[in-house]
Amino acid sequence: MHQLETLYRQIIMDHYKNPRNKGLLDDDRYIKNHIKNPSCGDDITIQTLIKSGEVKDIRHEGSGCSICCSSASVLSSLLKGKTVDEAQQVTKSYLNMIMKQPFDESIDLEDALAYQGVTKFPARVKCASIAWKAFEATLKKASEKTDE
Ligand code: ZN
Repeated sequence: MHQLETLYRQIIMDHYKNPRNKGLLDDDRYIKNHIKNPSCGDDITIQTLIKSGEVKDIRHEGSGCSICCSSASVLSSLLKGKTVDEAQQVTKSYLNMIMKQPFDESIDLEDALAYQGVTKFPARVKCASIAWKAFEATLKKASEKTDE
């Protein structure tokens, strides 16, 4: 168990220090969502390109604690290239996992599994969820739009 926790901490620190897909693009085709967590200063914007039922690209920008910033990076690398349906399932499983709700363990959360430990620190659950909540809101916005 201890080894697993060390591995999880390494995954989180790696994404924090070397964030994937960081930086927003000036492109109207992307859907943008911004969420703030006043309790610890996290401030994250997720920018997503959805086309033909697929998540083509995810960008993120913001500042905050290591849990928050790294989870935006993990989200972007995990969900990029997935179909909207797959991305929705992964997002739901992840949010249930960190809120200690039952979740579908057959869905591979890959690096996002590293955030299991936050269930022990209720104050950090919000940090680990805001990027994903912003992405979830994106999927909602996208579903309200008609595909051209
Ligand atoms: Zn935070």
